[in-house]
Amino acid sequence: MDSLQEFGSPSDTNSTASNINININSCSSSSTPSFPTPTLSRYENQKRRDWNTFGQYLRNHRPPLSLSRCSGAHVLEFLRYLDQFGKTKVHTQMCPFFGQPNPPAPCPCPLRQAWGSLDALIGRLRAAFEEHGGKPEANPFGARAVRLYLREVRDSQAKARGISYDKKKRKRPPQSATASLQALMPPTPPPPPPPSTTASQ
Ligand SMILES: [Zn+2]
Repeated sequence: MDSLQEFGSPSDTNSTASNINININSCSSSSTPSFPTPTLSRYENQKRRDWNTFGQYLRNHRPPLSLSRCSGAHVLEFLRYLDQFGKTKVHTQMCPFFGQPNPPAPCPCPLRQAWGSLDALIGRLRAAFEEHGGKPEANPFGARAVRLYLREVRDSQAKARGISYDKKKRKRPPQSATASLQALMPPTPPPPPPPSTTASQ
């Protein structure tokens, strides 16, 4: 039976924890445990945090949205929502620095989430969805619309920033590509963004 676990159900965290215990036990089955506390991999930790954050987003969603009714369109909404916390300058076509990887001066172009961050995030959420009992064919993170959106973001950011994501790694790779949602977002999500996107100046 594949029953999709909704966020906030009391069994949610427990079952996750017991799955992890099983994995841990099978690793160190015999004799004295040589390592103190077996830790989850960084990826697993990020995946759990991202999943919880997405659950929080759904709970705060107006109108309320349950995981089982979440579609690719809602995932896109979520990705656009994250852009307000972005730290990657993406030049508009009107900006004189459009297409320049290292602009010589500041400009009022918006900050967005880097494509690499979104791509990695969607990969983790997609995996988490199925680990929580979601059917692959119903996975909103694997929706065609989401794939197309990510491709569009990649291409437009590559143009705007003068960087080819396919051939070259970005100048400052460290955290952004692997950043968890926690790094992408402040601890408490601020109210929804105002309708206008034009920044001050
Ligand atoms: Zn600009």
